[in-house]
Amino acid sequence: MPFRTRYTGLIDKYRDRLPVHDDTRIISLGEGNTPLVRLHNIPRMLGKDVDIYIKYEGLNPTGSFKDRGMTLAVTKAVEEGSKAIICASTGNTSAAAAAYAARAGITAFVLIPDGKIALGKLAQAMMHGAVVIQIKGNFDAGMQLVKEVGEDAPVTIVNSINPFRIQGQKTAAFEILEELGSAPDFHCIPVGNAGNITAHWMGYTEYHEHGIVNSRPRMVGYQAAGSAPFMRGKMVDEPETVATAIRIGHPQSWDKAWKVQKESNGWFDECTDETILAAQKLLAEEEGIFCEPASATSLAGAMQDIETGKIPEGSKIVCTLTGHGLKDPDTAIRQSAAPVKAVEATLEQVKAIILDNLK
Ligand SMILES: *Cc1c(COP(=O)(O)O)cnc(C)c1O
Repeated sequence: MPFRTRYTGLIDKYRDRLPVHDDTRIISLGEGNTPLVRLHNIPRMLGKDVDIYIKYEGLNPTGSFKDRGMTLAVTKAVEEGSKAIICASTGNTSAAAAAYAARAGITAFVLIPDGKIALGKLAQAMMHGAVVIQIKGNFDAGMQLVKEVGEDAPVTIVNSINPFRIQGQKTAAFEILEELGSAPDFHCIPVGNAGNITAHWMGYTEYHEHGIVNSRPRMVGYQAAGSAPFMRGKMVDEPETVATAIRIGHPQSWDKAWKVQKESNGWFDECTDETILAAQKLLAEEEGIFCEPASATSLAGAMQDIETGKIPEGSKIVCTLTGHGLKDPDTAIRQSAAPVKAVEATLEQVKAIILDNLK
């Protein structure tokens, strides 16, 4: 029986569609190739004839889709001779930057909002040896600073304003198309800076233009209600949401994302923190899939639009789950039932609890 060729990351796999040369030293941790999981229980609960797939980007090496962009951004930074990278981050970009910089042997500087970053992400940045700069300001303030620093310091910015980030992230759309054999009807995705929705549209469009598939999905971007500039039609100065990864009021890919919305005939919508957390819990309890709060915004939004019929029955829907649930253990524990109170270590007491809790 032939063995499968070893998977060596998305740059290797999609080399001919990415801006690398034959002799480019590739900085990879085996990112990409994430599972596309078909939901069974949630569509049944909704009572609607819809086909929902989850693109589980939380299974990338550092636990979020940011790895897809970071592998290319760091590869190119190293190729261009850069010795340091810098980013502003709500958490996942800093984790990815820290890991890929470690891999490349360069320095990562990360600016994060003081106290507003999920615990797992902070642990990653610290563990990988990034220089963590906490600022008394939100993501948008950090992003502004990074742009200014980037102008006169010898560091490469690896936020999604770096075009290589978008190039790397477009490969998620390639994988979806290859697996489904055709485009889904709708692609639902959380929106913060709007780099990822832009990247997916780029990927879908490339395969369409090359005649590999004959259609493209309608792109649907969901934001948290307290942090929804695309719904307000203007920047939001004090964004607030439990979904810290999308707590962004000044999206960097503003114009690009509006273009995606128009070209794909899609739309933006918003979800309350309550519905985001409910969707996160539902996925964990009913499907065995654990994502962080921001990620659940895609499913929360899709469920709203399935309910109203805006996404009609008979549709094939892909929801991107951007990051892993373990990133934010505090929020997970806060919204779950407390464990059963400690009992004596006796068969009698343990058995009583089991009999009480059998479904
Ligand atoms: C970065 C991130 C987002 C937002 O992606 P954008 O490209 O900024 O729109 C959403 N969810 C998670 C978990 C993220 O890390």
